[in-house]
Amino acid sequence: MNITDHLTGVYNRRYFEELMERLLIEASAQYRPLSLIMFDVDHFKHINDRWGHQCGDDVLKTLCTRIRSATRKTDLLCRTGGEEFALICPDTELNDTRLLAEKLRALISTQPFDEIGQATCSFGVATWIPSESFDAFIRRADTAMYSAKSNGRDQVQVADT
Ligand code: GH3
Ligand code: MG
Ligand code: MG
Repeated sequence: MNITDHLTGVYNRRYFEELMERLLIEASAQYRPLSLIMFDVDHFKHINDRWGHQCGDDVLKTLCTRIRSATRKTDLLCRTGGEEFALICPDTELNDTRLLAEKLRALISTQPFDEIGQATCSFGVATWIPSESFDAFIRRADTAMYSAKSNGRDQVQVADT
């Protein structure tokens, strides 16, 4: 079974869902925190329109390389959609996850990408609430990401609890 994304080499959407279901069971059984960072490239359509689809692809690849080199081996990077990603952070409390997301945001926005220059991402952060469903947890992280978008992009928002 294919678990990785062809373009970026990170885990694909289907495997993301499988991982989350498994990790939620573990977190619940072991009383350990499980956090999620959802992020989406800002104005990616504009990047494609201005620089071409190939450059857009290169940005996605570079983005994944950078995120992976700045995170622990235990953090799991997944491509959940075209220019949307999730970083699953097992055993990580909300505040540490927020700090990590802030670090990643700065890492992306301050280092120009070859050919296109600056690109930014919007981030949503959530920590699983015991007994919360898989869908509700992902929805909270996603909603936080969308509020980062509507608040002006290139920022981190923490989900409501
Ligand atoms: P926002 O800041 O609100 O996220 O705006 P956006 O332009 O990033 O979002 P939108 O959803 O309007 O556009 C996403 C674009 O991503 C549209 C789609 O063509 C492009 N896209 C999706 N997958 C790929 C891919 O694999 N490669 C490239 N180059 N582009 C992709
Ligand atoms: Mg986008
Ligand atoms: Mg998107």
